[in-house]
Amino acid sequence: MTELPREQQRFLSHTKAEGDHLLWCGSVDGDGYGLFSVDGKTRRAARVSYALFKDTPLNPDWDVFRLCGHRACVAAAHLLAIPKWLRRGMPRRRRRSGVAVV
Ligand SMILES: [Zn+2]
Repeated sequence: MTELPREQQRFLSHTKAEGDHLLWCGSVDGDGYGLFSVDGKTRRAARVSYALFKDTPLNPDWDVFRLCGHRACVAAAHLLAIPKWLRRGMPRRRRRSGVAVV
C-alpha cells in the first residue's frame, strides 16, 4: 500500500471502518457531526474528507451530503457536494436554467 500523505493519515487516525462506511471517532459538534482541525481552524470532518480524498477543492458555498445517511460517516465515496443555491431549489420544482450536477 502506498504511503498516504500525512494529513490523510492524521485524518484517518480518527476514523474506523464499518462495512463500506468510515465512521468518525474524533470530536463532534452538538449535532453529532465530526470535527477536525486543519491549520488551526475547526472544520466539519465530512468537508475535510471530501477535500482530502476526492482530490477536488471544495467550494465554501457548497454543502456536503452523506449519500448513505450515516451521520458519523466520512467515507469520501459516500459524500456528495452540491451548491447551496441548488439545494434551496431542490425540494420545489426544477428551475428552467438547465442545471448540470457533475
Ligand atoms: Zn457511509
